[in-house]
Amino acid sequence: MSQYDQYTMQDPRTQYPTISASGELQPEPGLDAATRPRPDHGEETYRGTGRLKGRKALITGGDSGIGAAVAIAFAREGADVAIGYLLSEQQDADHVLKEIELAGVKALALPGDIKDETVCKELVRKTAGEFGSIDILVNNAGKQEFVGELQDITSEQFQHTFQTNVFAMFWITQAAVPHMPAGASIVNTTSIQSYQPSPGLLDYASTKGAITAFTKSLAKMLANKGIRVNAVAPGPIWTPLQPSHGQPPDKLKEFGQNTPLGRPGQPAELAPAYVYLASQESSYVTAEVLGVTGGQHLP
Ligand code: NAD
Ligand code: MG
Repeated sequence: MSQYDQYTMQDPRTQYPTISASGELQPEPGLDAATRPRPDHGEETYRGTGRLKGRKALITGGDSGIGAAVAIAFAREGADVAIGYLLSEQQDADHVLKEIELAGVKALALPGDIKDETVCKELVRKTAGEFGSIDILVNNAGKQEFVGELQDITSEQFQHTFQTNVFAMFWITQAAVPHMPAGASIVNTTSIQSYQPSPGLLDYASTKGAITAFTKSLAKMLANKGIRVNAVAPGPIWTPLQPSHGQPPDKLKEFGQNTPLGRPGQPAELAPAYVYLASQESSYVTAEVLGVTGGQHLP
């Protein structure tokens, strides 16, 4: 995919192909390795310029999709990178861990289910233990399961979505802040669903609304420590989240085509937003949400 780079001036509508996925579904969480067409994480293209040199980063859900693209970009910008993921995703994690090491920085693998508070605390303890500090925390892991009818949403699903998307972010952030020096940055992955919730994503959209509010409140709480807190709100991005029950099969066939740019985004197109918010270049930006939506703008 090397012609689809982040640097050559070109028409954004045709920079990446539109996706016509078969509608074939994977079990949750999906694997990048099994997603067709293959998402682009910038492996062939992302060029670092030392913007995060010497930083220590922890990224949840760093094995695939947006988190994988962010992990690769951070490593190439000079940061040591720890990634959290589920054990069933080891194959995807191995690919990202290899890319991090190829960038000449330290990689740390942290499998574990973050619905569990103890696991969240361990993620932080191991990262701080191995790296000495946490300069960048990216709360990016997420669960999205489409259910069309209100009566069909189980309590278990509702709870699991909140535990994964909201409670884990709270537990990890609370444990991480004591390891974060002034100048550190927290970046949360919220969603366009925080602003334009779809029917069928009731629990998921609600968690994304919570993440947006959490981000803004926490930014004001941590300003007096010199720690900035922001969020990225992706629009429709081609990742394993979508074909693993994130969307109904018929929606996958035209995924992202209703955006003004007419196609879904690729994970590689998200990474620069996270690099910007993690780096000192965004020193006066906190409590902000940066939309990367193909034109389905934030309010
Ligand atoms: P993805 O499936 O590649 O990444 C999500 C990751 O979350 C998984 O790889 C998995 O490692 C992790 N995860 C899920 N449940 C977990 C658990 N219980 N314990 C530990 N890890 C767990 O998909 P993605 O689209 O890159 O998702 C990344 C973030 O982007 C999510 O927060 C998602 O809500 C958000 N987002 C995605 C889109 C999109 O269109 N793909 C749009 C807006 C927001
Ligand atoms: Mg994954």
